[in-house]
Amino acid sequence: MNEHDSEKIAGLLEQKGFTQSKIDDSDLVIINTCSIRKKAEDKFYSQVGRFASLKKRNPYLKIGVVGCVAQQEGSNILKRYGHVDFVLGTMQLNRLLKHDPFYIKDAHIEYSNNIEEINFVKRKSSVKALVNIMFGCNNFCSYCVVPYTRGPEKSRGMKNILEEITDLAEKGYKEVMLLGQNVNSYKSGDNDFVDLLKEINNINGIERIRFMTSHPKDLSDRLINSFGELNKLCEHIHLPLQSGSSRILKLMNRCYNYQDYLNLISRLRSKVPDIAITTDIITGFPYETEEDHKDTLKALQEIEFDGIFSFKYSKRPGTKASSFDNQVEEDVKERRLSEINNLQDTITDKKNEYIKGRKVEVLIDDISDKKDFDFIGRTRTNKIVYLKSNNKLKIGDIVSVIIKNPKRHNLEGEI
Ligand code: SAH
Ligand code: SF4
Repeated sequence: MNEHDSEKIAGLLEQKGFTQSKIDDSDLVIINTCSIRKKAEDKFYSQVGRFASLKKRNPYLKIGVVGCVAQQEGSNILKRYGHVDFVLGTMQLNRLLKHDPFYIKDAHIEYSNNIEEINFVKRKSSVKALVNIMFGCNNFCSYCVVPYTRGPEKSRGMKNILEEITDLAEKGYKEVMLLGQNVNSYKSGDNDFVDLLKEINNINGIERIRFMTSHPKDLSDRLINSFGELNKLCEHIHLPLQSGSSRILKLMNRCYNYQDYLNLISRLRSKVPDIAITTDIITGFPYETEEDHKDTLKALQEIEFDGIFSFKYSKRPGTKASSFDNQVEEDVKERRLSEINNLQDTITDKKNEYIKGRKVEVLIDDISDKKDFDFIGRTRTNKIVYLKSNNKLKIGDIVSVIIKNPKRHNLEGEI
C-alpha cells in the first residue's frame, strides 16, 4: 500500500513538472511513513532529524511528511521538527497536485468521505501494477493501528478500477495486484469482490491477477471457488493466521478460531491442491504463554505454509491491546520469533524441494542481479525464479521454466 502511495506521489509531482533527483540535490523531499509496527515508526524518527542539515545547505528546500505516521501524529510533527514544512494525511495526496508543493504549509490530516482518485502514477514496474480497490479497515483487530491511520473502510467504484486496469493492459501490463486491507469486503453497488475478479479476468492483455489481503473471517466459498475457475487468478493466497492459539486469536479480535482457519485451508487445497499459501504471524502478543506459542509452532507444522511474514508484537497508539496488562518480555518475544523462523525455514526448504524438476510458468519482470542468470520472474504461486535463457527473451514475457535448483528464497531454473 505504501509502495503504491509512493508511486502516486512521484506521479503527481511529475505531473507538476518535478523530476526525480538525489536527495542532496533536491528542492523537495517527501517522507512516506509507515506505522504498522513500532520499528517502522522509529525508522521515520531516526531519519527525519538528519534532514535538518539538508536545509542548511539548501535554503529553498521544502520537507513534507506523508503516510500513516503523518496521519497519526498530524501537527505534532511540525511542532517537534521545525524543519518540516508540511504534513499530509493518508487521504490528502491530491493536495500535491492542487497546490504548489512549495507553498503547502501546516498539517492536513482530516479524512474525507470521498475516495481519492489519483490519475497520475509513476509505476516502478512496466509489467506488474499495483491497483487500489479499497481503502481503510473496520475490523479493529486489537493490536492494529490501520483503522486509525487509514480510516473507515471504503471501496473504489468498480467502473474506475476496470478503467484503470484496461488502460494498464493497453500499456502492456501483464499482471495486476489488487490492494485492500480486506479485499473480501469489497462492495460496489450490487457487485462484490468475486464480481470484480470476473470482470478483470475478461480484460484482454492482463494475464495474471493477484490480491492482498484477504481476512480469514470473510473468505467466502465463492472466492475459494474462483481459484481454478478464473484462469488468470494466480494460485496463491496470502491469508494471515496471526496465531495458532484460539485463545490468543480471541484476544486479538480476529473473529475466527484455529479450527475455522484449518477448514479454510482444506477447502482451498481441495479446490487447488498445489495452491501456495502464505501468512502473517505475530509473536509475543499480550498474555501469550509458552503453551500458546507451541500452538503456533504446531500450526506451522500442520499447515506447511509456503512462506510467512513473522513479527514481534509491538504496542500501537490507541489500540485496545496497548492497554492490556500482560505484555510479554522482549527477550521472550525474541526467542519465540527465532523458533518460529527456524521451523518455517525447514518447511520452506521442503516445499521448494518439491518443485525441483517441475515445469512452471514464469512472468519475467526484471533483469537478473545474480551471476550466470539473465532474468528474474515469478511463478503463478508467487515464487521468485532466476532463469537462464537463450537471450531472445525480454521483460514481460511469460515462459515455461524447469526448476533445477530450488533455494530457500528463490528458485533457479532454465527455459
Ligand atoms: N489487513 C491485513 C494486515 C495488514 S497489517 C490483514 O488483516 O490480514 C500486516 C501485518 O502486520 C498483520 O497481518 C500483522 O501480522 C502485522 N501487525 C499488525 N499490527 C502489528 C503489531 N502491533 N505488532 C506486530 N505486528 C503487527
Ligand atoms: Fe489491521 Fe485487522 Fe484491519 Fe488487517 S483486518 S488492517 S490486521 S485491523
